[in-house]
Formats: sequence, structure tokens, C-alpha cells
Amino acid sequence: MVAGTGDAGRAGDAAQQATWASGRTADLNKDNPRAASFRKVDGTWTVEDSAETYLVDRWSSGYFSINQRGEVVAHPSGDPAKSIPLIEVVEEAKGEKLRTPLLIRFQDILRDRVQKLNRAFVGAIEEQGYAAPYRGVFPIKVNQLREVVEEIVDAGKPYHFGLEAGSKPELFAALAVHDDPESLIVCNGYKDRTFIRIALMGTRLGKKVILVAEKLSEVRAIAEIAAEMGIVPWIGIRVRLQAKGSGIWATSAGEGAKFGLSVAEILSAARILADAGLADSLKLLHFHIGSQVPDILTIKRAAREASRVYAKMHRAGYKLEYLDVGGGLAVDYDGSRTTFHSSMNYSLEEYAADIVFNVKDICDEEGVPHPTLVSESGRAVVAHHSVLVVEAFGSIDRVPDGRLQIDSDHKLVHQLREIEEEMSSRGLNETWHDVQQAREEAQKLFEVGLLDLEDRAAIEAAIWKLVRTIERAAEIGSEGEDDVPEYLQDLRAELSYQHLCNFSVFQSLLDHWALGQLFPIMPLHRLTEQPEMRGTLADITCDSDGRIAKFIDIADVREELPLHPVGDGPYYLGIFLTGAYQDIMGDIHNLFGRVNELHVFLDDEEEGGWYVEETIPGNRIAEVLQLTQYDLAFLQRTIKKLVDAAIKRGDLKPKEGMRLLGEYENGLTDQTYLTLPD
Ligand code: PLP
Repeated sequence: MVAGTGDAGRAGDAAQQATWASGRTADLNKDNPRAASFRKVDGTWTVEDSAETYLVDRWSSGYFSINQRGEVVAHPSGDPAKSIPLIEVVEEAKGEKLRTPLLIRFQDILRDRVQKLNRAFVGAIEEQGYAAPYRGVFPIKVNQLREVVEEIVDAGKPYHFGLEAGSKPELFAALAVHDDPESLIVCNGYKDRTFIRIALMGTRLGKKVILVAEKLSEVRAIAEIAAEMGIVPWIGIRVRLQAKGSGIWATSAGEGAKFGLSVAEILSAARILADAGLADSLKLLHFHIGSQVPDILTIKRAAREASRVYAKMHRAGYKLEYLDVGGGLAVDYDGSRTTFHSSMNYSLEEYAADIVFNVKDICDEEGVPHPTLVSESGRAVVAHHSVLVVEAFGSIDRVPDGRLQIDSDHKLVHQLREIEEEMSSRGLNETWHDVQQAREEAQKLFEVGLLDLEDRAAIEAAIWKLVRTIERAAEIGSEGEDDVPEYLQDLRAELSYQHLCNFSVFQSLLDHWALGQLFPIMPLHRLTEQPEMRGTLADITCDSDGRIAKFIDIADVREELPLHPVGDGPYYLGIFLTGAYQDIMGDIHNLFGRVNELHVFLDDEEEGGWYVEETIPGNRIAEVLQLTQYDLAFLQRTIKKLVDAAIKRGDLKPKEGMRLLGEYENGLTDQTYLTLPD
């Protein structure tokens, strides 16, 4: 994808190319040496160009677009007529003293996603004459926040949409939030006695709780504890399929997977239950081939294999009632609609239709009843609903300030001037190689002490000037992003800016850091302006990994994002589709804590059509210190002792000492991120 490759842009390129060919390279965009990085040089940049640059229509699923003022707006119900400018939400948050980094949750998006998922299954079931219902569950590990889970439970009521818990704490939460006796609570993950007892307590309370055994010993334990408690359990078994997943999370399935029983073990489990008089307790067969499965073929294969296991068991006399297809329904983060790991080559509707079709096909062939279908889609339900807003507060430019004029008569300075003068005859590739050679030579001379600081600075300045000129000329000469010569890629990397952003990748975007997952990122405003720079995003942790240097692209992965210069006012960037996993998996590296949060609802009655339902301040300094076992009273006492001692020594006046102590104490209530000036 090329930024601004409209027709007008291409016409502009031709004019620029003519300029270059005539050898007047130094005239190009004199005031802004990087302006030529983007093709649209005739000043006709529009919001449509921005939408194309940031691929908004490709990844947003209709929940986000750009208004004519050049601001990103949300359409939380999917209705384009109802829109919320994100910048207004950020301003409102500021009024509540909540600054960036800021997580905005659109609760209406959650509702819409729950409805879309359920309707897709209900529609496919009706259309294909499938003889059992759909009873999906939301795996709360994907986002355990109470408000998120409650919203999903509420939106899912008409469809008897239930919950999945993968650990004891999740089960404790699920039992309390779940309030529909028709919907399921599916318990996955390894289980101890407490887990099993609490799940059975749910059964006793009238809930449909299914304990899914991950290994044989769990089957025995469930049977024993159920007998002790006098409760008839509902049991499921996770099958370890041969069918392998695909994508980053593919290891969740296949023979080497961490969870699940082989077919032989499933037969043993069924016999154990039959011997315990619990044959009828075996209700559900479950599989999960991993999260974010990008290829529909993988899903079809797994559905067919699991259906076959279900059908054969049924024929063998084990009257299972549910088939649980687990998670895996992907999100098209990069909008490429491909089998790339951050994308998917199918739609939600196709997913539901394919599951229904393949299960029905196998069951009909084997002559067994259609099972009630369960799916555990997490990511596809919650990813879209939250946006992380970060503020860029500066940028790191590797190019030295061109205003610094250094005179030098060094031979390499003359050589570089010559290279520049002969650029049009040498060609760009050769010029670039000559520059690299000069740079290497300068480095060697400096190492052996034959270059003084003044000369080195002058050589560096001449090199950077040339690098810029080559880059500009090369940008204009290259046909499109598919035709980027290697030397231009090197140049781009050399000249790339880093926008400094007030957030932590480790807290807010862990899957990007750990697994290279891509997220759509774009400015929230200034989208009527051409983004003149290319750059990466650096966070404020003291880790060089704390950065985003991979961005979405239709054909590939971009190494840089088109950006605007950080100007006088704040420059806000949105990181989208962060609602799944990122919220909960973040850590407090450098003690940057949870970010401020705002929950937004659409409401026709409100001026503007929306309101903030809840604000949740992020962690304060005192909180993260307590999380790491610092006792606040001890900290304050110690600092007071130090201040008193300094006063006693006469290094501090008492008044100043008390003022400094007050600052330390008040500072403990500050947010962990930078408080940037307005
Ligand atoms: N079910 C199980 C057992 C899982 O392990 C997971 C996550 O990996 C999910 C459901 C949710 O998967 P997804 O978010 O891809 O829908």
C-alpha cells in the first residue's frame, strides 16, 4: 500500500521526476526534506487518502471511519449515521482528569459483536436445517473485566449465550455474573479439588455447568468428588485432534498439544464414567485448535475430525449432546483478508456456516442426532470494542540538525561534495554505495585517531545531506510499494523517525512485543493533512524492545507508519482492536501500571449522541509500589528522615525541606505515565 497513490499524486511524481532528471535535486521540497517521501505532492490530500493510507475500511469492520474534519470516528452500533469522534472522547476524559494513555471502551460494539456471532449461527442453523440449537460461551480469559463480561452476558441473553472459565478465579467470577439457567458455563483448564467442587456447587445452584476434562485423572477426580457431594455432574472431554491449527497459536492443537485426550484416552474416560454409573453425565466433546486461526480450511478440517469422533462415540452408545468447537474465530487485524497470522481469509458468517455444514454432514452420514453447537469465540467478540489512545510528545530524528554549519577542508568532505555533484550520472544505487564507503572510511579514520571532532561532524553532516537527497530522488523514481529497490529500503530505515509515545508496549500491547501480532494504528486527527514522515513508535519504558516497528499492510508488513510531525498541539494516535487479551496480559514493566479507562455508550437523548458511563483511573504510583511490596509508610518515613538529616546538616532550609517532602508524598498519587503539558 502506498500513501496517497491517487492519480493526482502520480502526476505530481512525474513533475518531480523531471526536476530530478534535470539535476536540480537540491530544490526539492527545500523546507521539508522528507516531504517527498509520500507521493501526493500537489497539496490535494483528502480524508479519503488518509483512509486509504491507514486501510481503515479494510480492518474496521464498519466500526470506525474518518469524518470530513479529518478525525477518526467510531460507529459503535455499526450504523454509520451514529458516530463518536474519538478526539472528543479524549477531550472529555481530560475534563475528568484522565489523560493519555487512555483506553476507550465502546460497550455498544461488544453488544453488536455478541449479536453478530449469535445471529450468524442461528442463521446458518435455520438455513441448513440443522436440528439443534447454538449455545455459544464467552471465554472470559480473553477479557475478564467485570463490565465487559456483564455487557456480553446481557447482550447474549436472547441467545442463551454463556461463559467459559479456564481457571479457578475465572470460575468464581463466572458463577456470579452468569444468570441464565438455559446458558452454559463451560469449565476448561486443569482442575484441582476446589475447582471441581465450586463447579459442582454451580450445578447444585441450578446452572448448566460442564466440567471439561483435560486428562484422564480429572475424569476420575470429577466422578469421586461428585459422588462425595451427591451431585450428578455434567462432564465434557477435550479431544486432542490430529488436525493442526495454523497461525501464531497453532501449538494449541495436534498430537503434541498441552491439553486434551487422545481418542484412546477418550474411550477409557467413557468407560471410567460408565463404571461409576455416570455414563449419562458425559455430555460434551470439546476441541480447540488455537486462537486466531487465519485459514478457514484448518477450521473445516478440525470440525470434520471432531464431528467424526462425536458421531462414532454416539454410535458406540455414549449419548453426547454438545459439540464444542472452541475458539479460533479470527479477527482481520491487517484487513488483508489472507491467511497471514494477523488476518483471516473468511467472514464470521462463513465460519458459522462452515461449522454447521460440516458437523451436519458427518452426523447425517453416520446417522446420529445433531449435537447442540457450542463455540468459545473470545477474540472475535471483544477485539473491536477497545481503542488505546496514546500521545506522541516528540520524535527522535537520526539526521543531525542541518542548521549547524561546520567548515571543514577534510578530503572526505570534498569527496562527498563530488559524489553529490555527480549523482545524476552515477545513478542512485551507485551514489548510495559511494556514500556508504565514505562513511566506513570516516569511521576507520576516527578509530585510529586520524579524524578530529570538527571534521567528523562535517563529514556526518555531508553524509546525511546526501542520504536525504538520494532518498527523495529514489522515492520519486520508484513505481510503488511493490517496486521498492533494496537500497531505498535501507535508506528508509536510516532516515526513519521514532515518535515518542506516552505508553508501555509491555502493559498495553503484549502480543505485539511477544508474538509480533499486528494491530491497526493511525492518528486520530489531522487526517486532512498529508502525513509527511515515516516512522516507528517508541514507548517510554527503558527497554529498546519497547517499540512498535511493524505495522499492518495488505501485501506485507510495513516497517514504518506514515505520521505527521509532532507539532504545537497534542498528537494522538489510536491503537485499534486491542480488546482481546491485551487488557489483561499486560505487565507493569518499569512500574507503568494500568492505563486510564473510559466506557462510552451511544445515546440519542444526549447532546452529541453519546455519553461516558464510567471512568476508571489507571494505577497511581502508590498502587504499583504496593504491588511490588513497598510499604508506603516506610517510604515516606525514610524520605522524611533523609530530609530531616539534610536540614540538620544545613544542606536544606526547613521550609524547602518540607516542600520537597510534600512533593514526594503528593507525587505518590500521580499516574505512572508521563503527565504531558497541555
Ligand atoms: N477456548 C479455549 C480453550 C482457549 O484456549 C481459547 C484461547 O486460546 C479460546 C477459547 C478463545 O479463543 P479465541 O480468542 O481465538 O476465540
